[in-house]
Amino acid sequence: MSIKIVQKGHPALHSPAVAVPVTDIPSKKIQKVITDMKKALASQSDGVGLAAPQIGIPLRIFIVSGKIFDESFERGKGISEAQQTPDLVFINPEITKLSKKAAWLSEGCLSVRPLYGEVRRSLNATVRAYDENGVLLERGGGGLLAHIFQHEVDHLDGILFVDKARNIEEHMPEDYDKKS
Ligand code: ZN
Repeated sequence: MSIKIVQKGHPALHSPAVAVPVTDIPSKKIQKVITDMKKALASQSDGVGLAAPQIGIPLRIFIVSGKIFDESFERGKGISEAQQTPDLVFINPEITKLSKKAAWLSEGCLSVRPLYGEVRRSLNATVRAYDENGVLLERGGGGLLAHIFQHEVDHLDGILFVDKARNIEEHMPEDYDKKS
């Protein structure tokens, strides 16, 4: 069964999501949410990240596609590339560091198709979160990973990139191919 990715206008995308009680992380319910998110993201060849509200579930969970860490990953490569790195899971994430260095970066979203725009994002970001095993971790990243962190945490706060973007336009998928 395919998992539906909800679109702009769905209430889960426009209000803050709720924290997951840490003791619930091993539960069947939360593990199923994570599995469903991975399935939904894997179904989108241009997807690089996904937040739980994007499948209509108002919980503070996001995932990053492992394919962005694979050597074969580059712009334009899609689902035909075998993914080797598992998806990363972030539960109750908090951004603990954002670089002052920032730039207006092109951005799209699996829940705001087919729009793209430029959003000012820090070039480096650090997130503290629980993983799918309930282990608290901190992970820093630059480039695309930092960009995804900020986009996904916005989702958990009920913010879509179009709420803060400039130069919003429709593009064909081949123009810009990474969405989260
Ligand atoms: Zn998004």
